[in-house]
Amino acid sequence: MSPEAISPDRTKVGWIGTGVMGKPMCGHILRAGYRVIVHNRTKAKAEELIARGAKWAGSPREVAEEADVIFTMVGYPEDVREVYLGPNGILAGAKEGSIMIDMSTSQPSLAAEIYSKARAIGAHALDAPVSGGDIGAKEATLSIMIGGDRDIAERVKPLFQLMGKSIRYMGPAGSGQSTKLCNQILIASTMIGVVECLLYAHKSGLDLMDVIAAVGSGAAGCWSINNLGPRIVRRDFDPGFMVEHFVKDMGIALEEARRMNLALPGLAMAHQFYVALKAKGKGRLGTQALALVLEELNNARIEGGPNR
Ligand code: NAP
Repeated sequence: MSPEAISPDRTKVGWIGTGVMGKPMCGHILRAGYRVIVHNRTKAKAEELIARGAKWAGSPREVAEEADVIFTMVGYPEDVREVYLGPNGILAGAKEGSIMIDMSTSQPSLAAEIYSKARAIGAHALDAPVSGGDIGAKEATLSIMIGGDRDIAERVKPLFQLMGKSIRYMGPAGSGQSTKLCNQILIASTMIGVVECLLYAHKSGLDLMDVIAAVGSGAAGCWSINNLGPRIVRRDFDPGFMVEHFVKDMGIALEEARRMNLALPGLAMAHQFYVALKAKGKGRLGTQALALVLEELNNARIEGGPNR
């Protein structure tokens, strides 16, 4: 593929993983006029995209046999491994020169392994995880962090631009995933701060939406208080970003930190709270459900309006 080859006329795009994030991200590519070949473990979750013109393929291998650029947005490192390296995986079907891009949050070491195996068959791999949540996926405002070869990242930029507003090359294979782990380390302690802030506001008898508006536009303002704070106040614990996936991400970050002989106590504490949430059967709620753990600890319930 030459640099000018990325265009709706010339480029066939493959998409694997059409869940909370993958479906709207793939939708942007379809909307831009690209021919899309789609696969998901559960076909029903791809039906909407199929109805909009995407062509169904029965396996990642079949997607790779047809597509020039293949995106994956699956769940866990095990899923990434199966989708790329399994018997019916992308590498079993990929054409010479094709570009495969994993946008799931996964292990830097797995990204490096896929990169090497892709090179061995004359193809290219990038790791390009994202931040910005379900809202960022829907509104095409994701932050995309890319590892792999810079020239390949440049080549597929027109596709990234359909999904994100910050597209940043971070370094060799695995660097995108390492950057995403930095993001998750930052979010982990932030989420504790968000819930503690709302608990304190509730006990102080303040109007919680007013507190979010006040602090959310000041120096303590952040994506989590502005987007997840109101969901907590409304008792809306739907994902968004699933607890199970956050536990996975923090687990990867803790493993990497242990390898680096690095103590990250904020991350470790947040991880423990989220493991507790998962143990209570709430792993498929959104990460804002951390409120439920800290409420229980305090025998309190974060309520919307003034209470005194
Ligand atoms: P999700 O809703 O669970 O979507 C994952 C999709 O991948 C599911 O539809 C799943 O199929 C499919 N899949 C998994 N293994 C597969 C396989 N072997 N073959 C084919 N399809 C497979 O998760 P998500 O929220 O979209 O998150 C996707 C990734 O992005 C995760 O790595 C997550 O950590 C990361 N992420 C999420 C957010 C967020 O806010 N949600 C933000 C940034 C990053 P089924 O339908 O059968 O389950």
